[in-house]
Amino acid sequence: MIRDAAAIAKGMSITFKEMFQPTEVENYPDGKGPMRGAQFQQRFRGKHQLQRDENGLEKCVACFLCAAACPSNCIYIEAAENTEEVRISSAERYAKVYNIDYNRCIFCGYCVEACPTDAITHGHGFELASLNATTLVMRKEDLLVDIQPAMPLTPGSAHDQADRLA
Ligand code: SF4
Ligand code: SF4
Repeated sequence: MIRDAAAIAKGMSITFKEMFQPTEVENYPDGKGPMRGAQFQQRFRGKHQLQRDENGLEKCVACFLCAAACPSNCIYIEAAENTEEVRISSAERYAKVYNIDYNRCIFCGYCVEACPTDAITHGHGFELASLNATTLVMRKEDLLVDIQPAMPLTPGSAHDQADRLA
């Protein structure tokens, strides 16, 4: 009896102590709240990002190593060849289609480890829950990072062509 009372008192003391601590994500879901700690941010495995090189070209060269390493078989890639007129990546091939099925992804990071060009990385996006499973199949357009203003135009790249058409 005394032991039970002591256990309840101990539990309640933690509750009362926490009541007076600052609230960390009080705005959620209206505001995302801070992700605490630089170390935590670096290691966090959120929604993937497909990266670009310093010239704005896509780093993915469609080698399929990430798809081969994926234990959930949730990466789907279709490769295509770069041409003189249209250059998407700096190598021979690029990923014309790159899908990740987040219904199956377990965020193990094996794809990131396997990539020889650092084309695929984990971002910080964590709000992936959905009642519609089809929206969890993300396409290349959903994963590719934006072209930064500092990236120079590579002649023939999609970036360059979009600029010429603008
Ligand atoms: S994090 Fe793991 S499960 Fe998800 S796509 Fe990469 S290898 Fe596959
Ligand atoms: S993301 Fe990396 S490992 Fe996957 S196909 Fe592209 S270059 Fe190869």
